[in-house]
Parts: sequence; structure tokens; C-alpha cells
Amino acid sequence: GPVLEIRNVTAAYGPGLPPAVRDVTLTVPRRGHLAIVGPSGAGKTTLLSLILRFLEPQEGELRLDGTPYRDLTHAEIRSRLAYVEQDTPIVPGTIGENVRYAAPDATDDEVAGVLRAIRLADKVDTLDEGLDTPLTSTSVSGGERQRIALARALLRTPEVLLLDEATAQLDGLTEDAIHRCVRERAATGAVVTIAHRLSTVIDADTIVLMEAGRVRAQGTHGELLERD
Ligand code: ADP
Ligand code: ADP
Repeated sequence: GPVLEIRNVTAAYGPGLPPAVRDVTLTVPRRGHLAIVGPSGAGKTTLLSLILRFLEPQEGELRLDGTPYRDLTHAEIRSRLAYVEQDTPIVPGTIGENVRYAAPDATDDEVAGVLRAIRLADKVDTLDEGLDTPLTSTSVSGGERQRIALARALLRTPEVLLLDEATAQLDGLTEDAIHRCVRERAATGAVVTIAHRLSTVIDADTIVLMEAGRVRAQGTHGELLERD
């Protein structure tokens, strides 16, 4: 079955507030890239918050690998999912330490592999130096911070990798590195991204179009273009 199921989920931020997500049903397959696209206010971030269980639905339910969220603890859900945070904290120390921070048990080889995959090592000449390059929160660019967040998430070897591109200010290099990682990761696992525009998720296997809290359409990039 699918790794993640969202069934008829409706959620509001408070009593009396209109639902930010309305009767959304969606399944995330075990492999592949599913992109959620829509304008500002469509409910994309809310859906992500529901998946990460930062928010509880008023109606409907979510399931992780067939188990309803109500039978799982928050900690368990968050240990099985990885979210690439926009403002990932930078700890004083090396790139390696920064990446390892979210996955203390990762081996040097695993850390090096992830840094290579996201081309974070390009900040310096060699990977070894890359691992040992000291960082301070002021010496890290937005793009590097974004890639550190992705590296942390990848090291957690999550069942679902969640990425928010809609609020990201990505430079071209970072965008390329992230897109390549998403493609590689989607070959063996589940990736869910959220984005503003169809043009940034051309290679997603499935695109879900959201508008005013609802799923308006679902299909490949080609199918959705034909629809318009
Ligand atoms: P998107 O990520 O697609 O831009 P959001 O999920 O952030 O959309 O927002 C969906 C709706 O929920 C919007 O109407 C937004 O104003 C509202 N909303 C988002 N976050 C909050 C919040 N913390 N409190 C109240 N309303 C919110
Ligand atoms: P804690 O439960 O105290 O956050 P963790 O070991 O779960 O401890 O996480 C350590 C760090 O890893 C967090 O501070 C956060 O930056 C990151 N992290 C935690 N959960 C996730 C997640 N689901 N996705 C991505 N990063 C996470």
C-alpha cells in the first residue's frame, strides 16, 4: 500500500475559522515524487503541517504505512518523516557537525555521501575539508543553509521526505542540487514537495493542484497543462 494516506481531511486553525484544508484525499506512493502546487493561501503548508502532525484535522484521518496517526505518537511520526525546514538552525561547528546534528548516529561515510549528493562540498575543494570547515550562522548563505537542511533530512533516512520550495528563495545552484537529490531520492523512496508553480515541478511523477483548501486536479505535468 501507499506510505502515506490522507483521507477526507478537513482542518482549521481554530474554532470559528474557515477550514484551511477542505476534504482533501491524497495518497503518497512508497516511491516517486509527488508535488503539491497552488497559489498562496491554497492550503499547501497546512497540508504539510497535518502530515507532520503539527496540526490535528477536525475531520478525516491520516495513515502512515497503513497505521492511523491516532495510533502513533508524535515522536514516532516525526522520526519516520523528514521535513526540510526553511530556517534550519546552524550550530557552531563544522559542516559535518551541522549535518550530523539531526542524525547523531550517522557514520562519516554517510555524512560524506550526503554532502557529495547535495554538492555542499563545493564550498571547499575536498570533501574532507568540507566536513571540517567551520561554520558560523553568519558565514552560511541561504542556499547553503537550505542544503544543510536537506542533508539533515536525507541522513534521517525517512520514509517520506518533505520539502517546501514555495517559501524558499533558492539560488540556481541550490535549486539544481535539490532537484537532483529529489530525483535520486524519488527513485527509491517517497518525496513530497510543495511549490508555487507548475514549472518548478516538471519532473514530478504526480502533481496535485490545490486551490482554496481543496484538491482541484491531479496528474502529470503534461496532463495538467492540457487541462488548462
Ligand atoms: P499555502 O501554503 O498554500 O500558501 P496555507 O496552508 O499557508 O497556504 O494557508 C491556507 C489558509 O490558512 C490561508 O487562508 C491562510 O491564511 C490560513 N492560515 C495559514 N496559517 C494560519 C495560522 N497559523 N493561523 C490562522 N490561519 C492560517
Ligand atoms: P527532537 O525530538 O528534540 O527534535 P530529534 O533527534 O528528533 O530531537 O531532532 C534533532 C533535530 O533534527 C531537530 O532539532 C530538528 O532540527 C531536526 N529534526 C527533527 N525532526 C525532524 C524531521 N521530522 N525532519 C527534519 N528534521 C527534523
